[in-house]
Amino acid sequence: MGITIDRQKCISCGKCESICPGDLIRLTGPENKAEIICNEDCWDCFACTKKCPTNAIQNVLPFQIANRGAKLTPKVSENQLDWTLQHPDGKTEQFTIKTKETTQTK
Ligand code: SF4
Repeated sequence: MGITIDRQKCISCGKCESICPGDLIRLTGPENKAEIICNEDCWDCFACTKKCPTNAIQNVLPFQIANRGAKLTPKVSENQLDWTLQHPDGKTEQFTIKTKETTQTK
């Protein structure tokens, strides 16, 4: 389904442009903000959404997974991923996935 980029939130860091495996994002315009060049070719890999430091990028989910127009945004921290699912009616759901197990040694 592709991504949306909020150019107001974009700080032109270029991390999304560098990490996109399809080379689909460019920094464009006089303010050098991120733009998706060909959303039809986006694989929904979430690489750019995870890398963006300002949460300017959201993945638009297919209707088979969520309500049409629902968007998913990750917040990456050291030990977990916090996902926010934003429904078209404004409701949100939060999901947390632990990415590292902390082990205690005696
Ligand atoms: Fe803008 Fe986010 Fe891309 Fe950085 S990673 S250029 S802040 S959209």
